[in-house]
This record gives sequence, structure tokens and C-alpha cells, in this order.
Amino acid sequence: MLDPFGRTISYLRVSVTDKCDFRCHYCMSEEMEFLPREEVLSLEEMDRVCSAFISRGVEKLRLTGGEPLVRRGIMSLIKTLSRHLDSGALKELTLTTNGSQLRKYADELVEYGVKRINVSLDTLDPAKFAQITRLGVLEKVLDGIQAAKEAGLKIKINTVAVRGFNDSEFDQMISWCGDQGFDLTFIETMPLGEIGGTRSDQYLPLLEVKERLGERWTLSDNSLNTGGPSRYVDVAETGQKVGFITPLTEHFCDTCNRVRLTCTGTLYMCLGQDDSVDLRAPLRNSESDGPLLDAIDGAINNKPKGHEFVIDESNTEPSLARHMSVTGG
Ligand code: SAM
Ligand code: SF4
Repeated sequence: MLDPFGRTISYLRVSVTDKCDFRCHYCMSEEMEFLPREEVLSLEEMDRVCSAFISRGVEKLRLTGGEPLVRRGIMSLIKTLSRHLDSGALKELTLTTNGSQLRKYADELVEYGVKRINVSLDTLDPAKFAQITRLGVLEKVLDGIQAAKEAGLKIKINTVAVRGFNDSEFDQMISWCGDQGFDLTFIETMPLGEIGGTRSDQYLPLLEVKERLGERWTLSDNSLNTGGPSRYVDVAETGQKVGFITPLTEHFCDTCNRVRLTCTGTLYMCLGQDDSVDLRAPLRNSESDGPLLDAIDGAINNKPKGHEFVIDESNTEPSLARHMSVTGG
């Protein structure tokens, strides 16, 4: 699939549920209203949409959310999707998780062909972890990460950089990831969805972080480009990679290779724009995949050039009303 700006779209991220067992401060408000069940695609419908994208050339699929591993029956979806790995049409099936259910599912994930996962972890301090996630227990997540490691999954840790909260821990995170053999990616807070407070005091530009880390660690640019907004450095002392996702301080939209599907079947062609196409109606209204494929082709033809996020003193409102948990981070 080629978009109007000549970018090949080969990566689909799917939010399989908007629900979550945590309420991270930068992601959700304390009281969240989740979607009614009938609006959410069934697992069979998700398989059908994903398979349609794969037939159109998607080679990488990431399940996310909300928390993908709290969706009931999620393993049956992963199992059915794994047929595309077996056929060679899909090169990678992966997920982003908060880690709370990994002890339960790590072995099955490996069984169904998942090779690596991203796990979100913002702090190694149990009290701070409870504070930022509101409902999470650090010990359980670390145990889940351990289970994933033992099962043979390659792990990348995602850490959202929050000013005044975890900025004193970044060196420790790099050391810990180095010891564990994990890569690490720092993420700037993005202005997505109402969180019951302002984000301008949370926002920490990662260029500033990178400079500071460069005083303590020997960093060299790594040419790895995954088509996303992440840029990597190698850390000589640990032998691991550290990535920086900087949607606010630097745009990398010109090499974007992805689109995002919500759990209601809405396709967002850009994380930072409202442009969307409904795939649920063509999916539900026809047993044939023809209308669905037409809708997908139409969406790709309308993928916007880039996003326009801003967070500063005069822009404290969310740029977009929807939460990251809806579009899938
Ligand atoms: N629940 C899973 C998790 O936390 O990994 C998957 C979904 S979560 C929305 C995906 C990623 O988005 C996580 O790494 C999370 O930290 C990040 N995230 C959520 N809200 C964000 C925001 N407003 N700005 C930046 N990153 C955010
Ligand atoms: Fe849940 Fe992930 Fe959002 Fe945290 S970041 S509230 S774990 S969806």
C-alpha cells in the first residue's frame, strides 16, 4: 500500500480494547468511561480486519490498547493471527503491554510466534509506580517481565519521561535495562485525551534528556530506523540500545509506515490527526471483504502528511480529544 506521499504502509497497530487495569496519569483520568460492548469489534472481526490488511501488504502487526492482555480471549486472536506468520505473509506479530498479565501469558505468546514485546515501565520505585499507574503493583509487573524473559521473549522497555517524577531515575533505568539485556525507549508525553489536569508541567523535551545522559554514558547514534518516531543510540557501557520518541521536539512523519485501528474499527491514518475511516460498517454489512478492502484503500489514499502536536504554556489543552488508549500507543 502506497500513500499519496510515496510512503509504503506495512505496519498496523491495533488497539484491541480501550480498557485497562491501570490508570496511568499521563494516559487516563481516574474515572474513565469505557466503550459499550456492542461498539467493540469481536475477536473474529478483528481477525478479519487484520487479515484484510495483511492481504494488502501489512507485514508487521502490533496489538496494543488499553491493555491488550486484559481483553478476554485475547490469546485466541493471537493464535489465529499466527497463521499469517506461518504462511510468511506476516513478518512480525508483537504487542505493547503494561506487563501485569505477562506471568500468565508469556509462554503462550512464544508458542504463537511472538518474538519480542514492548513493556511500559516508568519507574523502578514501588511507591512511585503505584502513584503513576494509580492501580499497578510494581512487583507483579517485574515478575511478569521476568516470566517473559525466561520464556525467551526479547523485551524493550518503554518509559514515558515525566518532568519532576522520573527524571532522576533515567541513569538507573539504563543500568537496569543493561543488566537485564533489555533495550529502552524514552517517550515524550503527548497531548492526547483529557487526563484531569494539565500536561505542560509533565512535559520533558527528550533532547534535553539525551544531552544530560550523554554526560554520564557514552552514546553513539544507531542507524536503526523502524519507520516510527523513534531514534536510537547505542550505550557503550551496557551494550544496549536506548531510543527517544520525540513527536514534539522532532517530527519524523516523512518516513511513517503505519496506521492505527481502534477497537471499534475506526482507522486513524495518523496518531496526531483526527482523519479517520470507519471500517466497522463495511465489515459488518458485508460477508465479502470487498467493501472492507475498498475502505482500507481509500483510507491509505487519504493518509495525512504529518501531525501538529504542541505542548507549552499557552497550549495546555489536549491537541486531540481521544486518549492514547483509544488509538493505541
Ligand atoms: N497498556 C499498554 C502499555 O501501557 O504498554 C499498551 C497501551 S499504552 C497506551 C502504549 C504506550 O503509550 C505506553 O508505553 C504508554 O506509556 C504510552 N502513553 C500513554 N499515554 C501517553 C501520552 N499521553 N503520551 C505519551 N505516551 C503515552
Ligand atoms: Fe493502561 Fe497503558 Fe494507558 Fe497505562 S499507558 S493507563 S497501562 S493503557
